[in-house]
Amino acid sequence: MHKIKMTTPLVEMQGDEMTRVLWDWIKELLIEPFVALKTDYYDLGLVNREQTSDKVTHEAADAIKRYGVGVKCATITPNAQRVEEYKLSQMWLSPNGTIRAALDGTVFRAPILVKGITPYIPTWKKPITIARHAYGDVYKNAELKVDGAAKAELTVTYPDGRVDKKTIADFAGAGIVQGIHNTDSSISSFARSCFNYALDTRQDVWFATKDTISKTYDHRFKDIFREIFEAEYAERFKEYGINYEYTLIDDSVARLIRSEGGFIWALKNYDGDVMSDMVATAYGSLAMMTSVLVSPDGNYEYEAAHGTVTRHYYKHLRGEETSTNPVATIFAWTGALRKRGELDMLPDLVDFAARLEEATTGVIEAGVMTKDLVGLFRSDVTPEGVNSRDFIKAIAERLG
Ligand code: NAP
Ligand code: MG
Repeated sequence: MHKIKMTTPLVEMQGDEMTRVLWDWIKELLIEPFVALKTDYYDLGLVNREQTSDKVTHEAADAIKRYGVGVKCATITPNAQRVEEYKLSQMWLSPNGTIRAALDGTVFRAPILVKGITPYIPTWKKPITIARHAYGDVYKNAELKVDGAAKAELTVTYPDGRVDKKTIADFAGAGIVQGIHNTDSSISSFARSCFNYALDTRQDVWFATKDTISKTYDHRFKDIFREIFEAEYAERFKEYGINYEYTLIDDSVARLIRSEGGFIWALKNYDGDVMSDMVATAYGSLAMMTSVLVSPDGNYEYEAAHGTVTRHYYKHLRGEETSTNPVATIFAWTGALRKRGELDMLPDLVDFAARLEEATTGVIEAGVMTKDLVGLFRSDVTPEGVNSRDFIKAIAERLG
């Protein structure tokens, strides 16, 4: 059979546990029979991260910067238990954190919609993509417990000795105090990533903060978004027929529930953390959520939003059948192949990505799915829960 050719390699990052198993099956049954796959391969599985003293993760991040597009399998973020389990010499950092820091990116998460799996919000017809700023605020805070009567102050000292000072509170008794920060450069990257992604996917951007209360901090976010939009994006947005809008966060939440979806919701770090779980759950399942890291200079890393599905992996190791949902991992591959095809002007590759996505959702709509989806499925067709490999085979048959 004639296989679709690629010109530039895709940066392929293999991962851990059940998703590592699914990864190989997806390549074997859904990609390699159809595409003459060219990849620059990095094994980010925990065993190899240990063997390379995590150098492999940094090399993979560099490769994404060099080639522009990567696809990543879920990986274990080591904790004390994993250090024990894998006999690690160190508690290596989260690979996602390392790659995010190297690319200076924003994470976009979007649900995969399938007929028969209806969102809990009946008016939502199209996906809502959450763009979460991944730097600063409460995630890089400095906080103190105040033991009793005290004065808390905010102090900024410049290299020339100039000092800016403000009283936070005059404590009459015990309490708590917290300092947070962000940088113009990180907020600007966040804004550009959101606007680039909007142009890429032809969707409106809604950005929301609480600038009426946080008149300097949140207001700075609002101003930077506005300035960058006006100076660099307004014309192209008009050309593409899409909009940028700023709304207060509480107003935005209310409008989101009444909307039909189909836009990018840009949120500060904490808001994005909380709201992405709300939106994912409302659409049905974390196993149906894609995630892409977009850097301001146009590098892309695609992955599933879920983890390595440890519980299923141990069943698999015991020789039991598992029904782990591979859809988000398949969509990570299609996202990366489509982007590679667009950048290299390979319409066959772009078309293949679309056909693989249609075959995947088509199989589910026809009633064949992994067991996690069976209880969510509402249709005239009676759903049949199958194991992961049979589900992937059904997609291959539909594709072939
Ligand atoms: P998880 O792997 O997402 O799994 C949590 C539970 O959600 C599973 O036990 C399963 O529920 C359900 N689930 C998730 N994905 C599924 C799928 N594709 N198909 C069917 N069910 C699915 O999260 P975790 O157990 O908290 O984390 C496991 C490991 O993944 C950890 O080592 C963590 O560090 C890592 N992790 C990596 C990433 C990443 O690389 N992006 C993200 C998150 C977590 P049931 O058991 O009820 O079937
Ligand atoms: Mg969270």
